[in-house]
Amino acid sequence: MQLGIDAVSENFLRQQRFVNDVSHELRTPLTIIRGYVDLLESYGTSDPEIFKEAVTSIKTSAQNMQNLVESLLFLARADQGRQPLTKVPVDLDELLKKFVEAYNSPRVKVSKFPPCKILADGEFLKKMFAAFLDNALYYSTDAVKIELTTSGDVATLKFIDKGIGIDKEDMGKIFDRFYRTDKARTKIDDRENAVGLGLPIAKWIADRHDIKISVKSKLGEGSTFTLTIPTI
Ligand code: ADP
Repeated sequence: MQLGIDAVSENFLRQQRFVNDVSHELRTPLTIIRGYVDLLESYGTSDPEIFKEAVTSIKTSAQNMQNLVESLLFLARADQGRQPLTKVPVDLDELLKKFVEAYNSPRVKVSKFPPCKILADGEFLKKMFAAFLDNALYYSTDAVKIELTTSGDVATLKFIDKGIGIDKEDMGKIFDRFYRTDKARTKIDDRENAVGLGLPIAKWIADRHDIKISVKSKLGEGSTFTLTIPTI
């Protein structure tokens, strides 16, 4: 395959942006780890409080780096067609029920799930649901609703939050790798492991299952992510 000059420079720019994004995301946890190791070197053994704080922070930063690397490996395998899915008939209502139970969050409210069968890889589906639910919980403080309905040969699954919402201008970009809205970046209790890879991974999983994703959102009022899923 021969690439034109535009495609080559587009590829180069994309790669440059990618390396820039990854380096940027690794810098924060590495700086934290360096800082605490220095602190440990100076006071660690004499002050048990400092020792505890340092170990906790180093552990969290290492976990964040691990999450980042795992997300990157997932996408790299996906890009190279090396991410095998095993699709089998799945009871979506049962899968959702178990998924919500495992979350064990009092903020998650569910509608009554009607019985519904789809062809899917359950583990991948749960990973996709987690991306939507994590975001809904994180970008809002009220209850998050999960609704499942069926009609004809499709199931419609909604994740509804009344949170910070998404600006119209950002809407087309939230599924891009490393994209985070300014509102998300400046959130006071910023989630350290939020790097903007959750939705791209969710989108890849949705595409592999012929699931359509649509988003409705209003700044300051909340967001609804709707999945249209083919049933069997
Ligand atoms: P992140 O790890 O930052 O949550 P995602 O890829 O999951 O990354 O989402 C990309 C961006 O889309 C988020 O940083 C946020 O700006 C926006 N976003 C996603 N879901 C929501 C939501 N439910 N409410 C408000 N903003 C959202």
